Amino acid sequence: MAAGVWKQDTLEGLDKGSRVWYKASANEWRLGTLQSSAEKAECSLALDSERGEGCGQVITVQTSLLVPANPKILDGVNDLTTLSYLNEASILHDLRQRYGADDIYTHAGPVLIAINPFKRVPLYAPEIIQHYKARQGSQQADGYEPHVFLTADKAYKAMCTNSKSQSLVISGESGAGKTETTKIAMQYLAGLAGGTGVEGQVLSTNPLLEAFGNAKTLRNNNSSRFGKLIDIYFNNSRHICGALIQTYLLEKSRVVHQLPGERNYHIFYQICRGLNAEERQQLRIPADTLEAFRYLRTSGCTSIDGVDDGADLADVKKAMTAVGIAPAKQANIFQLLAAILWLGNIEFDVKTDDSVTVRRDAPLANAAALLQCSEDALASALSTRKITAGGETISMDLKLESAIDTRDALAKAAYAALFRWLVEQINVALAVGKRKSDTSLSILDIYGFECFKENSFEQLCINYANERLQQQFNKHLFKLEQEAYATEGIDWAHVEFEDNQECVDLIENRPPKSVGIISLLDEECMFPKATDSTFSAKLRENLTSNKRFSYNPKVPTDDFAVEHYAGEVVYSCHKFLDKNKDSLSPDLVELMETSGEPLLQHLAAEIAKTQEKRGSQTVGSRFRDQLKDLIQRLDQTELHFVRCIKPNGAQVADRFDAPLILHQLRCCGVLEVTRIARAGYPTRYLHTHFADRYLVLLSAASQRKLARAPALDVCKRVLEEYRIDRSMFQIGHTKLFFRAGVLGQLEDTWARI
Ligand code: ATP
Ligand code: MG
Repeated sequence: MAAGVWKQDTLEGLDKGSRVWYKASANEWRLGTLQSSAEKAECSLALDSERGEGCGQVITVQTSLLVPANPKILDGVNDLTTLSYLNEASILHDLRQRYGADDIYTHAGPVLIAINPFKRVPLYAPEIIQHYKARQGSQQADGYEPHVFLTADKAYKAMCTNSKSQSLVISGESGAGKTETTKIAMQYLAGLAGGTGVEGQVLSTNPLLEAFGNAKTLRNNNSSRFGKLIDIYFNNSRHICGALIQTYLLEKSRVVHQLPGERNYHIFYQICRGLNAEERQQLRIPADTLEAFRYLRTSGCTSIDGVDDGADLADVKKAMTAVGIAPAKQANIFQLLAAILWLGNIEFDVKTDDSVTVRRDAPLANAAALLQCSEDALASALSTRKITAGGETISMDLKLESAIDTRDALAKAAYAALFRWLVEQINVALAVGKRKSDTSLSILDIYGFECFKENSFEQLCINYANERLQQQFNKHLFKLEQEAYATEGIDWAHVEFEDNQECVDLIENRPPKSVGIISLLDEECMFPKATDSTFSAKLRENLTSNKRFSYNPKVPTDDFAVEHYAGEVVYSCHKFLDKNKDSLSPDLVELMETSGEPLLQHLAAEIAKTQEKRGSQTVGSRFRDQLKDLIQRLDQTELHFVRCIKPNGAQVADRFDAPLILHQLRCCGVLEVTRIARAGYPTRYLHTHFADRYLVLLSAASQRKLARAPALDVCKRVLEEYRIDRSMFQIGHTKLFFRAGVLGQLEDTWARI
């Protein structure tokens, strides 16, 4: 048997009395005991009773539907690589056992799997932090249960030892627990390397960004609608001394529109419910009538079970203060938010020629007052557009749809600018000691893969980001690993993995190489006459050769489908062009610039500046560049992967939805990673290093004999004298490869001399 090949998934050697899994349906396995040998096409199987014990019914099954099960002693092991049989049924069984005991963390070799418990689990107490903190850096992680604390600890200690920047890449579907996991990791690091006071500020960024950037969706009551990379910096004594946050594409369409059952950004509900009567009066927010606002009302959902928006506002205010946003500034922020809500209520009256006038009622008056501009100026910015032609500027009346779009565009632009400004404030506050160190520990928490009934441009961007991260995961855990073995000429059983290059290409390819969805969208955006339908036609014309792209020719819509690594998603082209162009009319910028409200004025100046800087770059292509930059940055660090798993779609505790979990495990390559890790040789030494280090362990005679011998001869002699089992190592062209844990004995001896 070649090294790296193991008794895997074959029934070879299994006989009467062996435990096996029987695939009863596409997603269901049942445990049973063979009653006959597994050599024939059919065999007899005694199913375990529902409680998993004893023999129940005996049935005849097709042998091809059986896979071997692990001995009972391996039930609930904390690292999947220690399973004797590695198949989906066994992995699922292991995770189910652990989840049932609230052990939500499990290793899959180098990857940490975290299953969302959807309840408080007793895993985060100070004593537990203490327990992980006490781990000696050089010490093996053996004996420590898998935990985000352990992963964060390994990253931190690796950073201290090697002075190399580290990253935690946290991925998973929407609602899988990425943001919570990020916070838990940050909490641990604050406990481990705090002391400067900065760590408190770093932690404060969480409630603040969540209030402005998270919302209830159909998948997650606290869904991140932006991507976030936080770099945490450490000073020479390895204490947290600063941080830098980079955010990615906020879903700003949510400010003006949400799917039924979803909500707008938390902060809107927080101010409506949490401000006191006097503050509300100043902001013209009526008491307790969230339904008064169109931007909060139309989705039919204003509350989240178990969430007290009013009380959350207090935390947000505290967090703002912690990052240096003084109460007066906070009042400005709330004022702007109230203005956005009132903007949404502005109505238009259609005139006989189809153009509109703005209705002169309370919403206009309130919005104008809060934006500190005149009602006339606001009304004209929303109902007309200035056009310059032949050196002359004329004012054109807008039709209803354009007027509504203009109103919503103003609300979205103001909110997005506010969000950017907040991030900037945080970064200024956290830049304290940043420059004193160049090693950082970064944590990536972005929006998870999502698929709704209706998917738009935002979902395409979100899923594209996940596609790129999946590719990076593949590259690190599969490609690089396998390439390393190949170049060293190691005998190695190749593990196939799902390559998603084709899907990444489909989205991001651009001429001259080829075309992709983003480049075609950009092209369409340059034609004045183009519409979402012409864009859809263009996709169909150009992309049908890509196997990941499809559409239903029988249905007359502008929809197209992409086969993502995590499943197929159907996108509607509706508003793709507008969202990609994201242009804000100069009239609106001007309106904001002339506002008497200093924050809004400042935001307007920023918007103008960014517009100038970006030129004609579209949202899609900028996002592509940002992702490329993100991946490059991550590549320069040592990576630690955490895979969050959502146990059920109902967001409830103690429900293990096996098909859903299996789907996620399949998509994210956990099975393959585990195989590679188990078959692999994670410990590596150059021949020369190994020889230098361990020559002293040889007998005096051998040392004399080999004093001038080539390094490899020394290595071989050491392996021989210490009787390292032949299956536990491989000799490459320049390096020795060892299975995990093999060198313990050598190291112990070495440490004693
Ligand atoms: P999205 O991609 O939508 O932002 P996400 O992966 O960031 O999703 P979270 O918001 O972190 O998902 O988790 C969803 C919810 O699951 C949390 O609000 C919390 O209720 C619960 N949850 C997640 N992790 C834990 C945990 N370790 N302990 C207790 N509850 C958790
Ligand atoms: Mg999140």
